[in-house]
Amino acid sequence: MLDWTSATKTLQNASQILVVSHVNPDGDAIGSTLAVGNMVESLGIPVTLVNESPIPDKIASLPGAEKIQFPSQVSERFAVIIAVDAADISRIGNCQQLFADNPTIINIDHHATNDYFGTINVVKSDAAATVEILYDWAEYLKISISKQLATVLYAGLLTDTGGFRYSNTTSHTLRIAANLLDLGVASYELADRLLETISTSYLEQLKDSLATIQIDLDGKVAYLTSMEEDNEGLVNFARNIEGVDVGVLFRPKDEHHIKVSLRSRQLIDVSQIALSLGGGGHARAAGCTIEGTMDEAIEVVIQKLKAAFEGVNE
Ligand code: 5GP
Ligand code: MN
Ligand code: MN
Repeated sequence: MLDWTSATKTLQNASQILVVSHVNPDGDAIGSTLAVGNMVESLGIPVTLVNESPIPDKIASLPGAEKIQFPSQVSERFAVIIAVDAADISRIGNCQQLFADNPTIINIDHHATNDYFGTINVVKSDAAATVEILYDWAEYLKISISKQLATVLYAGLLTDTGGFRYSNTTSHTLRIAANLLDLGVASYELADRLLETISTSYLEQLKDSLATIQIDLDGKVAYLTSMEEDNEGLVNFARNIEGVDVGVLFRPKDEHHIKVSLRSRQLIDVSQIALSLGGGGHARAAGCTIEGTMDEAIEVVIQKLKAAFEGVNE
């Protein structure tokens, strides 16, 4: 669903706009938040950017990231909201407290499991990242793309495609990336900072997590555990093992909840597994949170995967 006309009309008539994205934001969530902020400002409309969670250090170095506030820092209430990179309203967490009564929500996203929670929905599940949709919107709006806007758009493309390697990367993605490079994006510096550089604490948990890898379901599934929130990319070590189709990372969120990250190579649509457990995502990358102990969460996910593989073999 791509309701550009309504989205554009609402944007152009708004007196002020709130931009929100998902909790525990990644490069696409923050890149998209900053890109919309930049685009709305260039149309001369006041804009407020919020996220429920602190921004991870590497992403916080993107230009303009210091403008993103916690909802508790904002006193106004907003009638027009643009939500980016969020598959359902629960993903934006406590940002909802800033909504006026009966707000108009423009939902711009690329998750296959998006539930069209917006008043207006601009959802394109074959877009590699939400920033890809925003680039198209900027062109449609004839906004001239500054180096700063190009940088945050490129950051979202780079991180959601794992450096243009994941199956979501299309020729359209690469053409946009090429256009952004022509606008002066420092691609090597961004890739080095966002994808290559790891902190010493990440290295420590990498050592601990790799020691927990288990292989199950006749070598088709591998899983590992992590105790840290900053575990971006760890799940790929499980998925990347030869012969494995699905990699899973389990992390205790609190005493009673386990965060689950799923990645697949090609056989299993993990968005459906995550959706059936109250989460969502994409066919090749999805997530959810399960109530229970670590052992219970592992058991539930392995059973779901077992059934899914049986479906594939039939
Ligand atoms: P990750 O495993 O990196 O947390 O997330 C992988 C993908 O699944 C991302 O696209 C993310 O937005 C989505 N995802 C992760 N957790 C959840 C969740 O609890 N609910 C929904 N709807 N999507 C999730
Ligand atoms: Mn995201
Ligand atoms: Mn995304």
